[in-house]
Amino acid sequence: MTNSTFADLGLAAPLTDKLASSGFTIPTPIQQQAIPPQLSGRDILGIAQTGSGKTAAFGLPIIAGLMELKGKPEPRSARALILAPTRELAVQIEEALRSFSPARRISTALVLGGVSRYAQIQKLAGGVDILIATPGRLKDLVDDRKVRLDEVRWLVLDEADRMLDMGFIKPVREIAAKTNPKRQTALVSA
Ligand code: AMP
Repeated sequence: MTNSTFADLGLAAPLTDKLASSGFTIPTPIQQQAIPPQLSGRDILGIAQTGSGKTAAFGLPIIAGLMELKGKPEPRSARALILAPTRELAVQIEEALRSFSPARRISTALVLGGVSRYAQIQKLAGGVDILIATPGRLKDLVDDRKVRLDEVRWLVLDEADRMLDMGFIKPVREIAAKTNPKRQTALVSA
């Protein structure tokens, strides 16, 4: 059976309204395959290139789940964590997720290597819904107790193959081990 709209995949308004207003009416193949199992709480392994719509494929189920949660994130915590190999990709993911989020505020933060830690630590202090990070810097901030990962219920490893090629296996494993044991995981590889 093929699904033809985001609503058919199980996403509710106002998320589908927001997508429609951005011109997203037909889910791409990776979105059709990956969104329903993630909405039912399953882990996924996605094989997808840039341009396939992979960011929405892992981002929309997280936003849908966050919209169901009550209250605010705990201080120095994140409810969802997306790891990416490069700063550029992390910045693009944050922009895309913000563009998908309906009016109800979903907070995001970026933790990237090569730039000042101070602003990142400040932003994390109050807690965030979605943290997008490169592995090395995040590991440093976790080790320094600037952020805790035990509240992370959604973990995404984007461009996982590239993260491994770039030698990030150790921090990625250490970070994943510190997230909530009940977390849902999406691994995306080219
Ligand atoms: P990505 O593969 O996540 O980098 O997405 C590639 C591009 O496709 C981005 O510019 C998205 O905004 C766009 N896009 C993703 N999903 C859809 C969709 N279902 N309909 C229209 N555009 C989309």
